[in-house]
Amino acid sequence: MKKIFKDSFENWIFDLDNTIYDIKVGLFVKISKRITEYIMTTLSFTREEANAVRSNMYKKYGLTLTGLMSEYRIDPDDYLDYIHNVRHPELKYDDQLKLKLRNLSGRKFIYTNASQDHAKNILSVMGIEAEFEKILDIKATQYVPKPDPKSYGIMLESFGISKNQIENSIFIEDTAKNLRPAKLLGLKTVWMENERNLEDYKENSEYVDLIYSDLKSFLNDITY
Ligand SMILES: [Mg+2]
Repeated sequence: MKKIFKDSFENWIFDLDNTIYDIKVGLFVKISKRITEYIMTTLSFTREEANAVRSNMYKKYGLTLTGLMSEYRIDPDDYLDYIHNVRHPELKYDDQLKLKLRNLSGRKFIYTNASQDHAKNILSVMGIEAEFEKILDIKATQYVPKPDPKSYGIMLESFGISKNQIENSIFIEDTAKNLRPAKLLGLKTVWMENERNLEDYKENSEYVDLIYSDLKSFLNDITY
């Protein structure tokens, strides 16, 4: 792909967790712990059982929450409030990041399988909440998660991205399988490289246009 300029795209769509902040920050590990705890407490499972359920639901539905809703009737709001109730002193106000985002031409969005409250928390702590026009969360997609293709249809509609604008849109994500439907629709795709999703990347590498180690290195590579 050619060099990216600040006005190369009309629409810049960013995933939240492990994309807006670096996976190495370790915040997601805390959320992940609480997912297991929630399953243990709510469904009276041992840690081992909870981890097995979790992994099965993730594989089968693409998002643990979706599986827990379909097969275990858990309440999504209760679940989302619980798992995102983490402290994040690791995240810092980031003036540089704010400026880089602000200087991108075009519209900027957050597209996440997490909750709106969680996204707002993260973005406001980092000082970048105002840089995004809209946050699309899992509730707004009617709990249809990435990588279900239906979720991307809802996303395009929600962000008001018309068919002829798709080519001028770019999607940045750490979970490579979530880039597949975007690429098939015609968006440009960027994978935030990480160990955790390496296997998943290998299976989906044909749907990845660009790879960067983190958001800052991606933004630093853009010609402003
Ligand atoms: Mg993510």
